[in-house]
Amino acid sequence: MTSGTSVTSREWQLIARPHGAPRPGDFALREAAPPALRDGQVLVRNLYLSVDPYMRRRMDDVPSYVPPFQLDQPMEGGAVGIVMESAADSLAAGDYVQHMLGWREYAVLDAENATPVDRALAPVSAYLGALGVTGLTAYAGLLRTAALKSGDVVFVSGAAGAVGSQVGQMATLMGASRVIGSAGADDKVALLRAYGFSDAFNYRDAPVVDQLRRAAPEGIDVYFDNVGGEHLEAALDLLNPHGRVVLCGMIAQYNDVEPAAAPRNLILAINKRIRLQGLLARDHTDLRPRFLSEVGGWIRDGKLRYQETIADGIESAPQAFLDMLAGGNTGKMLVRLPG
Ligand code: NAP
Repeated sequence: MTSGTSVTSREWQLIARPHGAPRPGDFALREAAPPALRDGQVLVRNLYLSVDPYMRRRMDDVPSYVPPFQLDQPMEGGAVGIVMESAADSLAAGDYVQHMLGWREYAVLDAENATPVDRALAPVSAYLGALGVTGLTAYAGLLRTAALKSGDVVFVSGAAGAVGSQVGQMATLMGASRVIGSAGADDKVALLRAYGFSDAFNYRDAPVVDQLRRAAPEGIDVYFDNVGGEHLEAALDLLNPHGRVVLCGMIAQYNDVEPAAAPRNLILAINKRIRLQGLLARDHTDLRPRFLSEVGGWIRDGKLRYQETIADGIESAPQAFLDMLAGGNTGKMLVRLPG
């Protein structure tokens, strides 16, 4: 809109870099007028914002695979919304899109950075979770990084979260013989059993290695790591020869100010010829059409379930993020804005 937009928007900015766990005072909600539309751009009203663990790393001024958030600048993240105005041929007002200018009410962006979403397949919020990056992370991690084989025994940590809950169910659908999950609350463990996990435990009840040994007396072939630390150490103990570890995330360490103490047994990777490989979902966007077709089909047929924990209103975004880091979510943590 070379004509300026009349909307006013609010956006979250990081105003202080956290030391350890972030605090609400590290964020400020500020008003900002979206810029005028240029040719090829769209104005999107956001409907759902994603808050994700990787955002904690972006709050530190350290090199990573995504640049740090800049202080006193709008934060970014996944979002889905509706196109309000379009100066692009490829999108029209009323289209629903997924994009990366979250943490704000309205976004102006190049249409090429907005991906249309199919509301016939699932509600739009699913494109930030089960049919979005977290779902693709689970799918690509099992298919490619773990090279999952029929009959494998799989252990996944963070198993009641957005990625983990999909990993466990997908592993079964892809041919795993047993799937074990760990989570930090009894109601989450009950949900994993309802999702069809072969076994599940609360990692707060007893040492992870003891609980994992009980759940997998025959050992494990694949460990999908969302947590790091004690979980990774336990998995290394229980992995069978030629086991594979998908290094997806290490959320137990994201607020650490000192290097982690575990794992202390990495030497086992030599003895057992274990392969540990890092996973970045963004390396696997070529899988998206196959992922949407196969996983969308599983969801439509009721074979794959997902859950969302929803906080309402732009004001709730930082607290939703803090709650997610502390385990307050089951499935994907989202912030819903007025429709
Ligand atoms: P999520 O699992 O939905 O939410 C985070 C969960 O982490 C919390 O609900 C909490 O569940 C658990 N947690 C927090 N602190 C913990 C601790 N000290 N020990 C054990 N569990 C802890 O988040 P997500 O989006 O699905 O992400 C899961 C992991 O995948 C994260 O490590 C994230 O960085 C990673 N990830 C990686 C990629 C990639 O491309 N590599 C993409 C997406 C996500 P409990 O109640 O069970 O403790």
